[in-house]
Amino acid sequence: MRPPHSVQQLVSLDPATGEPVGSVPLTPIEAIPRLVFQAREAQRSWGALTHAQRAEILRPAAARLKAEAKRLGALASREMGKPLPEAIGEANHCADGFTGELDGIVAALSDVVREDGRLTSVLRHAPLGVCAAITPWNFPILMPHQSVLPALVAGNTVLLKPSEETSLVACEYAGILNEFLPPGVLTPVFGDGAQGRALVLADVNLVVFTGSRETGKKILADAGPGLKRVILELGGKDPLLVLDDADLDAAAAFAVRNSFRNAGQVCVSTERIYVDARIHGDFLRKMIERTALLKQGNPAEPGVGIGPMVNARQKAKVVAQVEDAVRAGARVAAGGEPRGGNFVAPVILVDVNHTMEIMREETFGPVACVQSFATIDEAVRLANDTPFGLGAAVFGADTARAAEVAARIEAGMVGVNGGCGGANGSPWVGMKESGYGFHSGPEGHRQFAQVRVISRPRVAASAG
Ligand code: ADP
Repeated sequence: MRPPHSVQQLVSLDPATGEPVGSVPLTPIEAIPRLVFQAREAQRSWGALTHAQRAEILRPAAARLKAEAKRLGALASREMGKPLPEAIGEANHCADGFTGELDGIVAALSDVVREDGRLTSVLRHAPLGVCAAITPWNFPILMPHQSVLPALVAGNTVLLKPSEETSLVACEYAGILNEFLPPGVLTPVFGDGAQGRALVLADVNLVVFTGSRETGKKILADAGPGLKRVILELGGKDPLLVLDDADLDAAAAFAVRNSFRNAGQVCVSTERIYVDARIHGDFLRKMIERTALLKQGNPAEPGVGIGPMVNARQKAKVVAQVEDAVRAGARVAAGGEPRGGNFVAPVILVDVNHTMEIMREETFGPVACVQSFATIDEAVRLANDTPFGLGAAVFGADTARAAEVAARIEAGMVGVNGGCGGANGSPWVGMKESGYGFHSGPEGHRQFAQVRVISRPRVAASAG
């Protein structure tokens, strides 16, 4: 029996070896309302500051994050299995962009003046109150960073509930910000879906969530009775269209990189590839050649491009989808050898169709499914035959034609001859069941604030 006041620990396991990496104290469900109450108390003085003042308080955290980037990256790599250079790159990306991000958020939330003949109105971006930020494990530094920073600068206090798979690195990240923040402004909450759900049901005003479509639907239902604001960045089933005039080397390189990066555990992974029938054979050959060059193994080893899946449950889901597709007539064109532990060898599937689960449900694993098309209309129809609508890509040498095809794809973000992420300042946005609210860029940042309109009679300009 546990002693009455012992604290239960949430242990993180290294998915490459199964060894424990460390642990954090599990947040008891019954403690959550009190933590939210403390966050509400802290919000009064935090919310009374200006956006610029809050940004100034956070600004020194950039250098601290930079100084700790290697350590945080190494921890993230061990905790969830992405290759070490990618994990360190993620930490550096957050640190290097920190100051610019703060400035961007302050600018996005500054007052806007609207005038007509009668009135002068000031649009203010006020705090919403207390924000629950619930984040996934696949980008365990970037996801908390992108959720927490705009929420804080907007004047909200935040309870950060990171994925139960990556509590350690989130704890370190929150610790760095908390070196500079007043108490109660940023509170980490550790646990799984039960702690997440308790937070959504508690007295919070905004829920910012990145994760699966299924969990997003549950959060929306739980937030509904209280009409709480929600920002949901959900999964995808991103298509890649390879048109007849595409640079096949570039398209194959992109397909391999974007299907297998982070072992396919990226919400904008390429999961469905549609190739013009006239170039299908050449494209596939190039993809197979490039896939054979990938090195899979322990993410800490130099040269490893693909680590393990995050856990056994994720591996079982991916393997089941592949086996189901093969039973239904799909053919393994490359890879897919059985691997031990949480590893899944990258696999290219052909002879797939939309009756298969693997073409309908998010896979979130290192699987590339390649199907041919006869006409662009058919390719667009196939690309849009999904409830998801996060990212997409179109490859074609005639970029004007490729851009026209891109505009016909029902996805929030479409890249021509490249990935779907937009230029600096563009929002990260999904369509259909991939998103309900969005983030980043001025449009995204403003969702963390309550717009208020304060109007007064316009003072007539004095004559002469
Ligand atoms: P995965 O299971 O692949 O990690 P989820 O979308 O279930 O993806 O998890 C993303 C985040 O949502 C995690 O932090 C998880 O603990 C949390 N979560 C899971 N279920 C719920 C829920 N019902 N309410 C709130 N948060 C949840």
